[in-house]
Amino acid sequence: MTSPSSAPLIPREMRVSEEDQALIVVWSDGHYEALPFAYLRGACPCAACKGHHKKVDISKITPKPGVFLVERQPQGRYAVRLLWSDAHYTGIFTYDYLRSLCLCQECLQKRDQPSP
Ligand SMILES: [Zn+2]
Ligand SMILES: [Zn+2]
Repeated sequence: MTSPSSAPLIPREMRVSEEDQALIVVWSDGHYEALPFAYLRGACPCAACKGHHKKVDISKITPKPGVFLVERQPQGRYAVRLLWSDAHYTGIFTYDYLRSLCLCQECLQKRDQPSP
């Protein structure tokens, strides 16, 4: 019955909410994540978006308003490529990264206390 915490988290369900303008992800551990398009687009991890930074600093994401998610293309079992209405399609979001972007209270609190 118990799922080991070491099991990699994968989306159990992924859908677009037109109403909320957000990508909804329900994870294999039951966690619910809602990612507004503007935020998600601003968090694009591709080389063109993050520039010379090696890693996206998720505490400093600048939302990019006015875009919506056009398509999702799963990349193997670990990532998804997101296609945007501004014709941007080079962002491959690994599931780890996608999960780290969660904006819920629980995750934001965890983010404030970096794990050792
Ligand atoms: Zn990008
Ligand atoms: Zn969360």
